[in-house]
Amino acid sequence: MGWRKRVLVTGGAGFLGSHLCERLLREHYDVLCVDNFYTGSKVNIEHLLKDPYFELMRHDITFPLYVEVDEIYNLACPASPVHYQSDPVQTTKVCVHGSINMLGLAKRTRAKILQASTSEVYGDPEVHPQPESYRGNVNPLGPRACYDEGKRCAETLFFDYHRQHGVKIKVARIFNTYGPRMHPNDGRVVSNFILQALREKPITIYGDGLQTRSFCYVDDLVEGLVLLMNTDDEFTGPVNLGNPHEVTILELAETIRELTGSKSEIVFKPLPHDDPRRRCPDISLAKKVLGWEPRVPLREGLKKTIDYFDDCLRAEWCRWVI
Ligand code: NAD
Ligand code: UDP
Ligand code: UDP
Repeated sequence: MGWRKRVLVTGGAGFLGSHLCERLLREHYDVLCVDNFYTGSKVNIEHLLKDPYFELMRHDITFPLYVEVDEIYNLACPASPVHYQSDPVQTTKVCVHGSINMLGLAKRTRAKILQASTSEVYGDPEVHPQPESYRGNVNPLGPRACYDEGKRCAETLFFDYHRQHGVKIKVARIFNTYGPRMHPNDGRVVSNFILQALREKPITIYGDGLQTRSFCYVDDLVEGLVLLMNTDDEFTGPVNLGNPHEVTILELAETIRELTGSKSEIVFKPLPHDDPRRRCPDISLAKKVLGWEPRVPLREGLKKTIDYFDDCLRAEWCRWVI
């Protein structure tokens, strides 16, 4: 048993975090997963608990944390509008106070720290696709602001700790990601449509369905995060990680209906406030610096996600959640 790098994953019991922990264990890291189970779940990491190099700690990162680590992936934060808007003050707190604590920890331990930022820093963009240099179009007062502005402030903190204290930082701007272990009730379009289709309920399209998103499969995204963490110290990002394949919400609904073999009808509902019209990453920087691009086609990733939700619907825990 050789020496292993100690890595802290905040939000490790969440959707992305649980896949990241799994991946890091496979690469022989010593993984400390810190989570307060706000949106994450023990079910997501249950299969990792028997690994002696996996450790789970219940903790809220808005409070200080003293541990010894070599790398930090800071993923703790509710990610879907339903979740981040249910307690908006806590959302800003986890982005700001949580980042300050994790940056303080990185400064003390000289650990490298990666921030899970988001395409939401671009707000409702006026530029397509969005390069990292685009400064965004964010409404600081709207219902999405707690998340968008929280994540923007977190990026500011990362760059200030880097300039002022020499902390080694990496900032990933993550675009819509989907896959197994997404929350069944997070109101995201992929989980909603799959569950509606599997249960033969109407598929709810908000607005006319002509708004676009680009969906990245979770394994591709995790690969991008790990590659980013392993770049030279000079490279800080921000770097977009997402799938540039843009689809309309209507196309997504039709694809999911076809893949599930469902007879669900498609119904149209009002578009939520501040809902971005288009979103698509420009991933030239990730291609150049990380040699990364998504590999999993939408239909293939959707099939795996559909299988997951199909199993979920049969599981005891899921009945409590939906
Ligand atoms: P998630 O909700 O599944 O995971 C977030 C995890 O953080 C959960 O396990 C939750 O319990 C935990 N958490 C929340 N507040 C905490 C706190 N104060 N202390 C400790 N743990 C806390 O969401 P996800 O989709 O896995 O997102 C992970 C990260 O990636 C988030 O920072 C999110 O903003 C970012 N991101 C995700 C997407 C996406 O499409 N999934 C897109 C852009 C950015
Ligand atoms: N902090 C932490 N773990 C550490 C070191 C610091 O949680 O190992 C927290 C600490 O509570 C502080 C924050 O990180 O509030 C910022 O740390 P920094 O050293 O930048 O600030 P200071 O301690 O000088 O206020
Ligand atoms: N959406 C939809 N029906 C749903 C859930 C979402 O039409 O049941 C739409 C939503 O209005 C948005 C897009 O799908 O235009 C993506 O929504 P999601 O909440 O998944 O992600 P975000 O808006 O944060 O990109």
